[in-house]
Amino acid sequence: MPLDVSSRIAAGEVVERPSSVVKELVENSLDAHATKIDIECRRSGIDLICVADNGCGIPSSQVEIAFQRYATSKIGTVDDLVNVRSLGFRGEALPSIAAVADVELSTCVEGAPLGSYVYLHGGDVVQRESKPRAPGTTIAIRRLFSHFPARFKFLKSESTENSHSALVISQYALAYPLVSFSLLLEDRLALRSPGSGDVRDVVTQLYGTELGKAMVPVEVSVDSLHITGLVAPASLSRAGRGHQSTFVNQRWVRSPLLQRAIDEAYRGLLPDGRHAIAILNIQLPPDRVDVNVHPSKAQVKFADEQSMFRAVRDAVHSTLAKTSIASEAQHLSSWGSAATQSTWSVREMGSQSPSFETTPIPSSTNSASLPPLRILGQIATTYVVAEGPDGMYVIDQHAAHERITYDRLIERREGRELEVQGLLEPLAIELTPAEDAVLASVKEEMATLGFTLEPFGGRSYLLRSVPAVLAGGDAASTVREILLDLSRGSQNRTLEGLAETAACHAAVRAGQVLTPQEMRHLITQLEQCTQPRTCPHGRPTIIHFSLGQLEKLFGRRA
Ligand code: ADP
Ligand code: MG
Repeated sequence: MPLDVSSRIAAGEVVERPSSVVKELVENSLDAHATKIDIECRRSGIDLICVADNGCGIPSSQVEIAFQRYATSKIGTVDDLVNVRSLGFRGEALPSIAAVADVELSTCVEGAPLGSYVYLHGGDVVQRESKPRAPGTTIAIRRLFSHFPARFKFLKSESTENSHSALVISQYALAYPLVSFSLLLEDRLALRSPGSGDVRDVVTQLYGTELGKAMVPVEVSVDSLHITGLVAPASLSRAGRGHQSTFVNQRWVRSPLLQRAIDEAYRGLLPDGRHAIAILNIQLPPDRVDVNVHPSKAQVKFADEQSMFRAVRDAVHSTLAKTSIASEAQHLSSWGSAATQSTWSVREMGSQSPSFETTPIPSSTNSASLPPLRILGQIATTYVVAEGPDGMYVIDQHAAHERITYDRLIERREGRELEVQGLLEPLAIELTPAEDAVLASVKEEMATLGFTLEPFGGRSYLLRSVPAVLAGGDAASTVREILLDLSRGSQNRTLEGLAETAACHAAVRAGQVLTPQEMRHLITQLEQCTQPRTCPHGRPTIIHFSLGQLEKLFGRRA
């Protein structure tokens, strides 16, 4: 295979997308012990990615070597590989980037009279000069993937790329609170971290003052394992895992094991579908963890998974318990404990006015439509049980409400009047850098749905109106949820996609007690939907047990 081809294939593993370039360059700056790192992206990194640091710099004699494959100054022996302390160690990033872009590098080490400047095109140095520079390194990447049309074509939209880059920098800012980061996206300051050394300051910058104040420090040491960070009380949760960050020896990692450990610590404290907010940094001897699992170095393998899981779970759990937040959260989510609540709500049903219980829901002629239903009660604070003309009907309250909300959001498009609820007091929303980057691309769709967001400086917006069907709910968090979903690339940007997320987020959850009136209202509204039997994702909203089936189950009939 020609070298050119093989190096491009290898490059693809390291530089998948502009944000992976951002990640590799910032990791190099961090390995160089920089305390100030300034990042800039133009056209989501396609036109320019520039990272400037005040780190140790590269000695003039080493500049060309840095661009050679597998050349790294960070490890020298196999022994070192077992004891990796730096973020980089494979010596692949710079050559891989140089294979798919033009690279300009200027660097200078402390005490040197002059620094070096090189320009690389097609992986080769085409210009070299000596130039003065303060100690540190600036590297500018231009025309990324321009000789790599296949990769170029598959890039998601520009705002998705920006949002990924913002996420990368946000995570490193959380992991390195002593470093001051700034990120310019298309000439706009997306993020600046103070470098004060206090991770709480970074949280305030990224997630706003409420979380900055409310999060509780974790600090636990077990043998050679140190777990530090911040966790939020269970009363503050999110619908996704976007606010969970895990670092191993200050490397940002995605670890299902650590996710499960966090889930376990919050078990019983969070309602269904909600996730904890946590920032955890795990320090352990480098030989107890393998970071060389994948070229992107985002996966890790722990030597002792069991004890790692237990240590993290217990650290978070004891922190929550200690601060008496757990008990407060228990109280807040007590409506989520299914067993006790369901008996209660069924019993309460008995004392309700009989006229309610026996009023059948009028049925329409639509074939997909629901038969007349007599509501019997709620079980497991999740399902509504009803009797129909032929047996028993079990309705998933969340799925049903999701369908109703989705239809209301979408039907407005079809010529009907926009049902928008203006807010008397506009709601101030502070977006994270990643959410903010994605908003630009869906502003119009958001407006069509009824969310009016007015810029209010920086990453702040005033929410002036919401879709009427969502009025009274937590509209700000619905907006956030939509943007978060998009920034992760997990949802499409069509109106339908946005409406799906909004509906799922705003719908009543499993675990929520419904009054008889609420149940009846739910069924009446479901009845009016054109496709009442499935939720927008296509899952059933209602399951029917016919009398025949029941008879069979009871052995009354063969
Ligand atoms: P790795 O980080 O795995 O060693 P890279 O290809 O990312 O490999 O970088 C190659 C080498 O270039 C590094 O080992 C380091 O010596 C040098 N280098 C790259 N970026 C910087 C920087 N910002 N400051 C100082 N040295 C750097
Ligand atoms: Mg590197």
